[in-house]
Amino acid sequence: MGFKEEIARRRTFGIISHPDAGKTTLTEKLLLFGGAIQEAGAVKSNKIKKTATSDFMEIEKQRGISVATSVMGFEYGGKKINILDTPGHQDFAEDTYRTLTAVDSAIVVIDVAKGVEAQTEKLVEVCRMRQTPMIVFINKLDREGKDAFDLLDEVEQKLGLNLCPLSWPIGMGQRFQGVYNMYGKNLQLFSANSKQKIAESIEFDNIEDASLDQHIGEESAATLREEVELASGVYPEFSQEDYIKGDLCPVFFGSALNNFGVKELLDCFVDIAPNPQPKAAEERVVNPMEDKFSGFVFKIHANIDPNHRSRIAFVKVVSGLFERNTNYKHVRLGKSFKFSSPTTFMASKKEIVDKVYPGDIVGLPDTGNFRIGDTITGGEDLHYTGIPSFSPEHFRFINNADPMKAKQLNKGIDQLMDEGVAQLFTLIQNGRKIIGTVGALQYEVIQYRLEHEYNAKCSYENFPAYKACWIESSDEGQLEEFKRLKQRYLAEDKFGKLVFLADSQFGLQMAQEKFDKIKFHMKSEF
Ligand code: GDP
Repeated sequence: MGFKEEIARRRTFGIISHPDAGKTTLTEKLLLFGGAIQEAGAVKSNKIKKTATSDFMEIEKQRGISVATSVMGFEYGGKKINILDTPGHQDFAEDTYRTLTAVDSAIVVIDVAKGVEAQTEKLVEVCRMRQTPMIVFINKLDREGKDAFDLLDEVEQKLGLNLCPLSWPIGMGQRFQGVYNMYGKNLQLFSANSKQKIAESIEFDNIEDASLDQHIGEESAATLREEVELASGVYPEFSQEDYIKGDLCPVFFGSALNNFGVKELLDCFVDIAPNPQPKAAEERVVNPMEDKFSGFVFKIHANIDPNHRSRIAFVKVVSGLFERNTNYKHVRLGKSFKFSSPTTFMASKKEIVDKVYPGDIVGLPDTGNFRIGDTITGGEDLHYTGIPSFSPEHFRFINNADPMKAKQLNKGIDQLMDEGVAQLFTLIQNGRKIIGTVGALQYEVIQYRLEHEYNAKCSYENFPAYKACWIESSDEGQLEEFKRLKQRYLAEDKFGKLVFLADSQFGLQMAQEKFDKIKFHMKSEF
């Protein structure tokens, strides 16, 4: 197969949802269809988490939360599919945001009973900003939930999406009979008893077909016909072009746990989902078909082997072929590196590879040279944009609790920040270090990892900040005045950018009013 064909058949996506909507279950079923795992339905979700994702962090086992994300690749219908796993827990939301910079599309899972939840809103917002094409999967139809029309209204309103149902449910909960697949023009009948079996599908060219009544009963058939007619009046017709532009989201209904409606979702997905798309660097837009390799680091995974401190930098290949043992430029360091054991990820297996195509993720063993957001190229000075840091929600001083281990502590902090576990701010006035995080849980993760991986001890002390704002000014004089007045609240981030740690919403407002030439940004890229 040629280079272009290889790119055209790649589908790299992420599944996003609020915790418990069924992301893990859906992932499991998708892997099942890809033959990436064997036993139908017998695989428990935590088993998959263990084999197919990251169980190498002790802390994750203890907490049972997917702390990190990983890649699951498989072949299906001639397509090479990569699922980038995204942690649902909100304390790790930044991990998820960064992973979403490496996907070409997304599937949004929504619980039919709970509807749109907080985390779904945030993650969809990130996808919407990036115009990532999305497909919505309404899950748990085997349970009582919201009326389909009401739910779709809610999704459109809360998530700001234009929907286009490609399947329609026939009842739900106790009365759930199946789904009518408008995309594949067939009917899937649900049988609660044959739970884990792949449901049988009956082909229908036309919903008016009289035999529909025999399959689901006259009453249900009449309701279905009515609802489908109503839906086709309310919702726009499917257009792949609009979907790929991020303007239209197809919707499927099903039950991941019962493996129901999942194959229809997958079949449609491989058909319509985008292959790797051009990506903007600061310098120019880069096309996947270009011959020269380029890619960016969207995630760093540490300590895969607990016996030594190795890391893997996850690189999304944007353009050109990545080859083993070939020199590539690490643009930030201006240095050349070659990689003797790059890995790709096929389901639960990690394998050393010689060639990696655009769209795929390659794992590069790293001894501490990479940072999230770094670009690697075949020689050109490119900087991929779009991996900003957001203002943390929590701020604490980090202190050294063992004076003999200062070096270890500093090294540990540096490396954990490169991985994107949290953000480090150094106060300009006195050089004290402040750790900013999205959730309180990260402080425990950092303390634990410093102790177990770096043999260093830390303690925390509250730093009363409300938000971190990255500062930019069109007026030097005003900036100097601001720095003089606010010196106690000024810090540098790890790139040396100036940050104002506002102590309250009021304090920030006052500063904004007084210093009208200064811009206060809530994220590091502007
Ligand atoms: P995640 O947190 O989004 O990864 O959610 P999980 O996949 O772990 O699912 C959360 C819970 O919902 C688990 O107990 C699943 O068994 C259950 N679940 C997932 N899909 C379905 C479904 O289609 N029907 C029902 N009744 N339960 C489901």
